[in-house]
Amino acid sequence: MPKLELSFPNGVKTTVQSDLFINNKFVPALDGKTFATVNPSTGKEIGQVAEASAKDIDVAVKAARDAFENVWGEKVPGAERGRLLLKLADLVEANLDVLASIESLDNGKAFSIAKGFDVAAVAANIRYYGGWADKNQGKTIETNDKKFTYTRHEPIGVCGQIIPWNFPLLMFAWKIGPALATGNTVVLKTAEQTPLSAIKMCELIVEAGFPPGVVNVVSGFGAVAGAAISNHMDIDKVAFTGSTLVGRNIMKAAASTNLKKVTLELGGKSPNVIFKDADLDQAVKWAAFGIMFNHGQTCCAGSRVYVEEDVYDQFMDKMTALCKSLSVGDPFAQNTFQGPQVSQLQYDRIMEYIESGKKEANLHLGGVRKGSEGYFIEPTIFTDADHNSKIAREEIFGPVVVVSKFKDEKELLRIANDTMYGLAAAVFSRDISRAIETAHKLKAGTVWVNCYNQLDPQVPFGGYKASGIGRELGEYALANYTNVKAVHCNLSTPAP
Ligand code: ADP
Repeated sequence: MPKLELSFPNGVKTTVQSDLFINNKFVPALDGKTFATVNPSTGKEIGQVAEASAKDIDVAVKAARDAFENVWGEKVPGAERGRLLLKLADLVEANLDVLASIESLDNGKAFSIAKGFDVAAVAANIRYYGGWADKNQGKTIETNDKKFTYTRHEPIGVCGQIIPWNFPLLMFAWKIGPALATGNTVVLKTAEQTPLSAIKMCELIVEAGFPPGVVNVVSGFGAVAGAAISNHMDIDKVAFTGSTLVGRNIMKAAASTNLKKVTLELGGKSPNVIFKDADLDQAVKWAAFGIMFNHGQTCCAGSRVYVEEDVYDQFMDKMTALCKSLSVGDPFAQNTFQGPQVSQLQYDRIMEYIESGKKEANLHLGGVRKGSEGYFIEPTIFTDADHNSKIAREEIFGPVVVVSKFKDEKELLRIANDTMYGLAAAVFSRDISRAIETAHKLKAGTVWVNCYNQLDPQVPFGGYKASGIGRELGEYALANYTNVKAVHCNLSTPAP
């Protein structure tokens, strides 16, 4: 298929392939199908990309299996896998403007943030896992002196990876980094809303020198290409980031086919607790960043803010002023903080929540569309919401926060933890004992103390409860991509 010719308001020009990436080649879908990817700032089509069917997934899995058996896996020393990952990280940095421009166009996030956060973090994550590639060691285990016993951390094999649209390239990096470092091969499906930046990355994967078949990237829809991955009999593991609803389907598919290993990073409704002894100016800034960053389209968004009664009014004044000052608009404008929501569907879902919120709570700020084209929504604050209301319980995935006041700390903790989710939480206080005690009582995979949305490649990320299974990032993620083999060597024990 023809390449897409893209030129951006910041002067960057590039081309992007529109095909599937299998065996280091760009190929059209077998049945020739394509679908449109849309610019969320305008609602207009950017171009057509290949739409994978189950047959294309079969071809990609075969390529990944051949690569795993012959040119990757344990055929390649960790140091060599690491060298390729480090090279890829360098190439990402050399192409920062191009990748960030594509990300910004296809997803709607501000170019400056795509460049300074997303793509910079892509390079950091890939480099971090490049460093692990030759350091994932087993153990020798003492049993008795007639035996030598040790473990090996072996790659699992072919990994299916299904990613969402909120951080298209960063989720790509979170997924391929630990998988490739540990010697697995990959069939990765991008989200149908945001296929372009990952396709551009595939050019860099070839340039870095990865052998054909190690990384295969397909665009397509969840119900077809995604389901073909989670049901595939020759995929050994599936890693998914997305909604809890789809996570359940993926787990069911894995269970009813070959019991492939499953890791899931799902939704959240994260509580952010602000005590009266917090540095309030800082707490307000982090709280606004906690929910409004990436237009609220963050699984760990601090969408429930609980403020101790004594400072509630002060907090609200400052939070309102700050949210009003956030610049919402053209992702390529220099000062933009918040661009459009990713799609018409997401825009509609958020607006439905806002409508239901208006009936259940007090709409304090925003709640309306910004402009007349694209999917822009004003930063929105609800107050006085009952804990059991829809907007206080369900993940909205938009720039919508529910702020509540609390008096009794024990009751606050009960409410904060009274959710099916457990992805993240935060606590603000100048009293270190109180902050840490609270952090330990919050049931979440990540708790931020006096900050929000901080993610480092070295630090694990993942959910308690219905927010997920397994951990991404850090050394912990390696375990999700390895089988542990125990080897017992008899030295001198005669047969019983
Ligand atoms: P959202 O509703 O926010 O778009 P999803 O969880 O539906 O989030 O999508 C995240 C990823 O999961 C996307 O790549 C999507 O194509 C994929 N997906 C959606 N439905 C399925 C499914 N039934 N099986 C496998 N993957 C799916």
